[in-house]
Amino acid sequence: MNIYLTYDYELYFGANTGTVHNCLLHPTNKLLCIANAHNAKITLFVDAGFIYKLQQQCKQFPQLKTDYELIHQQLANADAAGHAIQLHIHPHWEDSYYDGAQWVMKTERYKLSDFSKADAHNIIINYTKALQNCIHTPITAFRAGGWCAQPFEHFATTLLQLNITTDSSVFVGGKNTLQPYEYDYTAAPNKDIWRFTNNVIAPVANGAFTQLPIASYKYSPLFYWNLFVRGKLNKGLHSPIGKGNPIAQTNFKAKVLSKGMLFCACADGYYTSKLATIIKLNATAQHLVIIGHPKAQTLYSILQTNVLLQQFSTTHKFVAMR
Ligand SMILES: [Zn+2]
Repeated sequence: MNIYLTYDYELYFGANTGTVHNCLLHPTNKLLCIANAHNAKITLFVDAGFIYKLQQQCKQFPQLKTDYELIHQQLANADAAGHAIQLHIHPHWEDSYYDGAQWVMKTERYKLSDFSKADAHNIIINYTKALQNCIHTPITAFRAGGWCAQPFEHFATTLLQLNITTDSSVFVGGKNTLQPYEYDYTAAPNKDIWRFTNNVIAPVANGAFTQLPIASYKYSPLFYWNLFVRGKLNKGLHSPIGKGNPIAQTNFKAKVLSKGMLFCACADGYYTSKLATIIKLNATAQHLVIIGHPKAQTLYSILQTNVLLQQFSTTHKFVAMR
C-alpha cells in the first residue's frame, strides 16, 4: 500500500496565529528528519496564500523577509530531497494582514466559493505562482482549506489550466456545515482513489481529476476523554509545538466527549495513537492518505510517527504525492 503522510503547512487562524518558527519551521524540520531517517517521503500542502502575503508585505515590514526566506529555504530543501510540496489554499488571506506586530486574521470569507469565480481564479493563480517560486518540481496536487472543496466547478478550470489534476480535499464520510466551514462528503464513494470532473465525490470514468481522499476513522468518546485528560496531565508530551489559537468551534468538546466523531486519519498530537490501527484496517487498500499539521505536532506525535515509520516501512511504502 502507498501511504501518504500529508501535512498542511500553515499558521493558526484564530486570535493568536503562533510564530513561523514554532508552527512551521521547527516541527517540519523534525518531521523531515524522521522521514529521511526511514527513507520515507512526506507531502507538505503549503498554505500558499501566506507565502503570497509574506511576499507582498515584506517590502513594508522587513522582518517578514526573514520569515519568507526561511520558509523558501525549507521548502526548496524538502523538494530537492524528494518530498512533495503541493498547493493548499486558504483564500481568507485576501482579507488578512500583518499590522506591524502580528497577523490579523479575517475569516469571514473563508472558502473559495465565498469569492466570485473571477476572484477565485485570480487567487489560485497568484498563490500558486508564489509557491511555485520556492520549488523546482511542478505543483500537481491541491487541497482546499478546511476541506471546503465544494462546489469544485467554481474553480476546476483554473486548476486544470495550471496542470493541477490531483485533489486531496475529501475525507470519506465527513461533513461540517458550521460557519465558516461548508462541506458534505457523506455521499463520497468508499474507495481510496477515483477520477472525477466537476464534483469531488462523483466518480467519472476518465474524469480530468484524480481524487486521493483522506482516510477517515470513527473516534470513540473514550478516545477523546483520553486525549483531553492526557493533555492536562502531561503537557510536556501532549502540548502542540505550534502554540496558537485555531478558529473556535462551538460545543466541540462536549460533542466529541459524548458522541465521539468521524474524522480524518490524522498525524497530529494524540490522534497518531490510532494510526497503526487505521493502517491495519485499510491493509487491502492501494492508497492511504493521512493528514496532519506541523503546527499541531507534539512531542508525543513526533515519537509516535517515528515508531509508525519503523513499524510499517518494510511492508508499506511511505510515498510523496507527486
Ligand atoms: Zn489548512
